[in-house]
Amino acid sequence: TLVNLDGALVAPADAKVSVLDRGFLYGDSVYEVVRTYGGRPFELDAHLARLARSAERTGLAPRWDGPRTAREIARTLEAAQSLGAPPAPADAAPWNAGEWYVRVVMTRGAGEIGLDPALAVDPRAVVIVAPLAAPPARAYAEGVTVAIASVRRASPAAVDPAAKTGAHLSHVLAVREARAAGAHEALLLDDAGMVTEGSSSNVFAVVGGRLRTPPLAAGILEGVTRGVVLRLAREAGVPVEEAPLGVDALESAAEAFLTSTMREILPVVRVGARPIGTGRPGAVTERLHRAFRRLAGGPPGL
Ligand code: PMP
Repeated sequence: TLVNLDGALVAPADAKVSVLDRGFLYGDSVYEVVRTYGGRPFELDAHLARLARSAERTGLAPRWDGPRTAREIARTLEAAQSLGAPPAPADAAPWNAGEWYVRVVMTRGAGEIGLDPALAVDPRAVVIVAPLAAPPARAYAEGVTVAIASVRRASPAAVDPAAKTGAHLSHVLAVREARAAGAHEALLLDDAGMVTEGSSSNVFAVVGGRLRTPPLAAGILEGVTRGVVLRLAREAGVPVEEAPLGVDALESAAEAFLTSTMREILPVVRVGARPIGTGRPGAVTERLHRAFRRLAGGPPGL
């Protein structure tokens, strides 16, 4: 693991920011997670565009602009790669071996303690490059369980859900619940009980022969992977709809999957103890994942 802190490449143990930093005190930061295929960042432009939107939506002036951020990511990746390819875990999916995880964090900075963002000075910019830790091959072959969290997705009026901010406590608590229930991911509902998204993923289900995913208006993050999957589905002639998804519809769906940068397209085969469809990854899911893997490049593995 290698860290770029405000432009200085340092080991994680030496990457230190002040306890007065508002990212630490308030989660007052925006961030992105990108991964590599063949050693190169995938959909970097989309991630940088979303980072800029997250900063705009929260009125945070990042230390680096988009082009500088892209250069610093490239520099950090090169330095990490020159230290040698990471050893892949034995259970890794074959296409993930030797790939990298890239986290970009922009905080509003430190300053006198107080919620007023005008107190912030000296915003921090951080890039963390680490060996990719993606779901194991087994998760793709067998599918995973999701749990419906009791924690609700913050309502759009509270914090803009389209901004990818460091204020993640509700998602942390949702994952805590899911893990206690033995589930891979927590799904968060809105105040009306409709499915919004996972703690760090978007949700798709095959309902009535159509691929359905909650609309952006449901109060979700506009996942980069979600966008790629919608495009691939349209290209493949799979009927798609961005429409509200109830828990009932999800539970009675023919198939379902999660999307995220780290998961790609990960089959969901149970909501709690209830199987979805046949209880095995579905045909539409597998077809889209193959198309995704072709687009992303790297060894096929599927
Ligand atoms: N929703 C939330 C809340 C997330 O944190 C993530 C992970 N970034 C996603 C969805 C999936 O987004 P992406 O496909 O861009 O990784």
